[in-house]
Amino acid sequence: MLLSELTGSVQRLRGVGPAVAQALEKLEITTVRDLLLHVPRSYENRKDPAPLTEAFNGRTVNTVAEVLAHDYVGPPNRRTLKVYVRDDSHTASLACFGRNFLARKLPPGQKIYLTGAFQYRFGELTASAFEFEPYGVEPRAFGMILPVYGLTEGITQHGLRKIMRTALADARHIEDEVPEALRRRHALLPRRHAVQVVHFPGSMQEAEDARRSLAFDELFVFQAVVARRVVERNAGARAPKALPRNLLNRLVRSLPFSLTPDQKTTVEEILADLGAARPMARLLQGDVGSGKTLVAFLAALPYVELGYQVAFVAPTELLAKQHAENAASLLEPLGVRLAFLSGAVKGAARAPLLEAVGAGDVDIVVGTHAVFTEQVEFRDLRLVIIDEQHRFGVRQRELLVAKGTQQDGGRPDVLLMTATPIPRTLALTVFGDMDTSVIRTMPPGRKPVRTHLARQENEQKVYERVRQELSAGRQAYFVYPLVRESEKLSLRDAEGMYERLAREVFPEFRLALIHSRVPEEDKVERMERFTRGEVDALVATSVVEVGVDVANATCLVVEHAERFGLAALHQLRGRVGRGAHQSYAFFVYDDALTEEGKQRLRVLYENTDGFAIAEEDLKIRGPGELTGTRQAGYVRFRVAELARDMDLMNAARTDAFDILERDPALEAESHKTLRRAVDLAQAELGR
Ligand code: ADP
Ligand code: MG
Repeated sequence: MLLSELTGSVQRLRGVGPAVAQALEKLEITTVRDLLLHVPRSYENRKDPAPLTEAFNGRTVNTVAEVLAHDYVGPPNRRTLKVYVRDDSHTASLACFGRNFLARKLPPGQKIYLTGAFQYRFGELTASAFEFEPYGVEPRAFGMILPVYGLTEGITQHGLRKIMRTALADARHIEDEVPEALRRRHALLPRRHAVQVVHFPGSMQEAEDARRSLAFDELFVFQAVVARRVVERNAGARAPKALPRNLLNRLVRSLPFSLTPDQKTTVEEILADLGAARPMARLLQGDVGSGKTLVAFLAALPYVELGYQVAFVAPTELLAKQHAENAASLLEPLGVRLAFLSGAVKGAARAPLLEAVGAGDVDIVVGTHAVFTEQVEFRDLRLVIIDEQHRFGVRQRELLVAKGTQQDGGRPDVLLMTATPIPRTLALTVFGDMDTSVIRTMPPGRKPVRTHLARQENEQKVYERVRQELSAGRQAYFVYPLVRESEKLSLRDAEGMYERLAREVFPEFRLALIHSRVPEEDKVERMERFTRGEVDALVATSVVEVGVDVANATCLVVEHAERFGLAALHQLRGRVGRGAHQSYAFFVYDDALTEEGKQRLRVLYENTDGFAIAEEDLKIRGPGELTGTRQAGYVRFRVAELARDMDLMNAARTDAFDILERDPALEAESHKTLRRAVDLAQAELGR
């Protein structure tokens, strides 16, 4: 039995009724496996003695003491019992607020096991939160190390400990997933043993060893899934090819600027992949405006020259259009045949377009999700480029890859682009099966955006500043967290603020509203007017986060900035500072924002480096938010903590790739259990 096969409901355990099960569900525990992997947050050490004097070192006391005397303090009608005790090191008092009945249980002369957090107050060591058991009889807890769990309403420590004991009694036959040789090399506890002692350890060292073993197991199986994906992909190899560079060189020569060093490097990295036999899976990272799009176009040209087809997909109609226009001005002069395909391309226009793609009369198809649909058939799709990849699901990506997969299994190359800098931890997990290229430096000549943090009560000053810019002929974005007013949240919303800004604040300027509920055609139309300078200020939700490129826009105002992730705010900031004029970002926060919340926003004020901001965001909010992850296929590790277990992650990764490269199908006898575990994990990850 594998631990991950313990999928029976916790309700089947003795002592778990519907109410408890419901409470457990809040902790994301529904199965016995979930329960067993709910490892303690910390431990209550009632094993290692800590005499009363240890309280002076800030430690919890755990000692054998003797009751000396009783006393009563406080007003006559609310007398409180005070019990004086002594151990070998010191004397102390127990303040029994509301527990005067303890007088009977703690008669002078009684010896007890005593634990508690003692403090030095009014000249004596004293504790009001303490526990004790009579000395001399078999103790219930003293001498043990007790688990301390993350809890939720409806569950107590004591209750959860009991449930855990019950579950562990049925978990004696858990098999090891990590092959024996590796277990020995990393000194891992057998899984069956580790899962027992992580909850009820004999020593603190054992607890840590168990946690570490379980974390390694988890990371190893995860990395084995990743490694298998890579091995499978590499099986779809095609013959290596020499890449002609005529078109590429012509495009470079036609540019009014020279490529940045990072652009040159990343183009070469991609071309090296394209020339090789094994299919490319590369993630191109670079801040907004760093010039990723151009890199992608350049890298695509040798394939175009070879007669292969390329798909270039963006998450929104707006962005796809922008790319298409870009492509038209850069590539059409070279004779590259382009097509634009989105849901909006309908009726009479659509059929001939699809036909041309199928006949190979189109070199590069730029478009939206529509490119994934079934009717679109390529003649020879060899390269799939996906912009703002986190907006797409893994499945969608796979659909497109399938369109380029040949009879013989040869797979197309895939280039994902993202403006979200990927911290190392994510690069090894969410994107663990990909190679990465990074553009770190911006094209020259950009003035850094000036960032200001402002309280909502100072909004007039912000609006004034924006007015100056608008009067000078510049443009602005206003961004709000909600589309429309919500009953639950008292937040400013895009619709309400559009009204207010248009009527009261900027009646002399032309404003437009865009958000997700504005029909696509209107959205595109309003955006185009903004691009042409016919609209002065765009009031929006974070739909403007991606891609939009208007060089004349110099002001970004985000209200309720505290509601956005740092990475998102950084991307929004990338909407301005794209032209020659000095640009400004105003992050306006709620007057009631806590000091901690302000501290968080200050990260943006102090950093212009997207990587630093992403790391900070990751620490604060976890990886889910950062990558838009459910889609990206993020796994929630149950035991491993990436910040703490990076060394384990690296070891697990090396070992897993090593095994999968030697035994791709995990056929060896010694890999049998591993294969089952990997199959299960893969099914869970949904790929
Ligand atoms: P990204 O896709 O990374 O957000 P873009 O490709 O939209 O960035 O580039 C932003 C702008 O910078 C575009 O107008 C592009 O033409 C321009 N650009 C790209 N590379 C350079 C360069 N090396 N020097 C100057 N401008 C550049
Ligand atoms: Mg872009």
